[in-house]
Amino acid sequence: EEELRVAALEQVRGVPTVTKDGKKINLYANIGNPGNLPQVLANDAEGIGLFRSEFLYLESSDYPTEDQQFEAYKQAAEALDGKTVVIRTLDIGADKKVDYFQLDPEENPAMGMRAIRICLTRVDLFKTQLRALLRASAYGKIAIMFPMIISVWEVQRCKEILNEVRQELDEKGIAYDKDMEIGIMVETPAAAVMSEELAKEVDFFSIGSNDLTQYTLAIDRQQTQLDAFFDPHHPAVLKLIQMTIENGHKAGIWVGICGELGADLTLTETFLRMGVDELSVSPPSVLPLREKVRSLDLSK
Ligand code: PEP
Ligand code: MG
Repeated sequence: EEELRVAALEQVRGVPTVTKDGKKINLYANIGNPGNLPQVLANDAEGIGLFRSEFLYLESSDYPTEDQQFEAYKQAAEALDGKTVVIRTLDIGADKKVDYFQLDPEENPAMGMRAIRICLTRVDLFKTQLRALLRASAYGKIAIMFPMIISVWEVQRCKEILNEVRQELDEKGIAYDKDMEIGIMVETPAAAVMSEELAKEVDFFSIGSNDLTQYTLAIDRQQTQLDAFFDPHHPAVLKLIQMTIENGHKAGIWVGICGELGADLTLTETFLRMGVDELSVSPPSVLPLREKVRSLDLSK
């Protein structure tokens, strides 16, 4: 049975991720560091939809330098050889703690100082990462996305800081991709509800269903005793996903899903009918998901 399964998946290697009636989506992979790149290539992903850059910080005993980060991002850009690599800026805090950040203890860290809130508070730290990302963008097709967004002003401030870094690089004659796409994670109910306004600010949305579920249902994603209440297919979450896709498309931008739900084969048809443009999943989920997409006929 296992051999037959492997053989079936081999059938969908190197072919497009398209339904029987011609709806094509981008099927990307999620990674945490350059060590995962061979897995991305071995599983025939069409790009990287989520590079969780905080793993570079989690695996280090001190702040990773600009050059260390640059090397990691460049390695991903080069390995993907012109295919998209979406790199998420630092998403530290909550369940992802690093001692050297010296964050104050909090009663409720999932709702505290984390992700973009740290970056917009400690701008030097943010600029170091943005410089590394921009420099690496000269070596492939990098896109940047900002995590845990709740407000339009946050995105505008992120873009302002990014522009300052671009200007610094221009002054030094350092190359970067001037057309690099900028996106945000939609992983808070606020971002989903504000998606019409947020879509005007960015080139794409990537829906983080893990946090979106946690914050919509008010259930800690790591709390295992609430399984009876935790419904990953809760209609409230699905409605927010649908709203986000519709508002993204109204503004002419692409919308993907990079949380675990993206790999849930029982929802693939639902997401495709909603019009999702991209699904980004862990590397071993790539081929099973392509097989699923190719089995669907949305005209029926
Ligand atoms: C998410 O929240 O769905 C997501 C993709 O980000 P992370 O799991 O890293 O929080
Ligand atoms: Mg998240």
